[in-house]
Amino acid sequence: MSADFYDFSEQLARLKQQGLYRGRRVVDGPQGVLLRVDGRPVVNFCGNDYLGLANHPEVASAFKRAVDRYGVGSGSAHLICGHGSAHHALEQELAAFTGRERALLFSTGYMANLGVISALVGRGDAVFEDRLNHASLLDGGLLSRGQFKRFRHRDITDLAEKFGDRANKVLIVSDGVFSMDGDLADLPALAALAKRQRAGLFIDDAHGFGVLGKNGGGIVEHFGLTPCDVPILMGTLGKAFGTFGAFVAGSEELIEMLIQKARSYVFTTALPPAVAEATRVGLRLLQTESWRREKLAELVARFRAGAQQQGLRLMDSFTAIQPIPMGDSRRALAVSQALLHRGFWVSAIRPPTVPAGTARLRVTFSAEHDLQQVDGLLDALIGVMA
Ligand code: PMP
Repeated sequence: MSADFYDFSEQLARLKQQGLYRGRRVVDGPQGVLLRVDGRPVVNFCGNDYLGLANHPEVASAFKRAVDRYGVGSGSAHLICGHGSAHHALEQELAAFTGRERALLFSTGYMANLGVISALVGRGDAVFEDRLNHASLLDGGLLSRGQFKRFRHRDITDLAEKFGDRANKVLIVSDGVFSMDGDLADLPALAALAKRQRAGLFIDDAHGFGVLGKNGGGIVEHFGLTPCDVPILMGTLGKAFGTFGAFVAGSEELIEMLIQKARSYVFTTALPPAVAEATRVGLRLLQTESWRREKLAELVARFRAGAQQQGLRLMDSFTAIQPIPMGDSRRALAVSQALLHRGFWVSAIRPPTVPAGTARLRVTFSAEHDLQQVDGLLDALIGVMA
């Protein structure tokens, strides 16, 4: 007889004992900087609504108007009858904004990453990924039928050495802004190496798109590169755009290839059209309200200067993601809980999201925060870590 399939108690107990158990908290009311969590008011420093658009009145009213016009559900996958005029218009606007021939909507960023890598990397090919890439990129590599190798974080020499092996085609994959570290890929070096090796380059700019660059063009604009340098660009809509979903932008042929082959595109229901309409407004605001990016940079600078003054160790990041190294998972959890007690919500990030022994607090900023809230967080951090 086999073991009892439904006996999970030992595994769950082990996770608890290691400080790796994941819990959820119930948020009531609208998303934003001030949340009610388990009935108590807290200042939110763990969301990805970097520009504060998730609850922007114009985004919300576009969503409501679109529900009146299109209904709620999209009805089916894009390739059946689910590809509506709202999706189509958003794709065209994203293509124009990113300076590419086409863009393709996916229902989530996770699905975009699985879809792109597994569609483009086949048997006999290889995929090389930064070892700190987001789980969805790593999972995409595992799902592909190609050889899957990870290179050391931001280490171009280590990546270059991977090319020694024989492979038909090679795809290089990296986060633009690393989601748990906040640092940037060395994009100019990645682009140069990819060109030299005739390899593909796929950049996931989930945390940079809309936030980095003077115009919100993300990591590509930040480094002053062009679409030719990053032929496959992915961005998510659930972060800077304040809505939900994701897109991939690139050449006409690339997008046609994904429509044929990306299984997480073909075999899933399209986003509700109202999400696409709300995102169109998010895309406009992200271009017209550049003060949001400036404010974000000001908040991050204030936090880093304050932390330095207080002797609080941070990581090497200038983005809206500011991790505080803790090392031990139980410590990260305890500090996060103590902060919540003082009215500040900062999440504890633990393995397997980050490598063993590198648990951290992940502080994230939104343009809707103010300087007093940043100072309040610093005071609370110093208080709980003393
Ligand atoms: N890529 C990165 C770098 C991410 O951080 C995330 C999610 N936080 C995703 C992809 C997945 O995007 P989504 O939440 O839209 O599935």
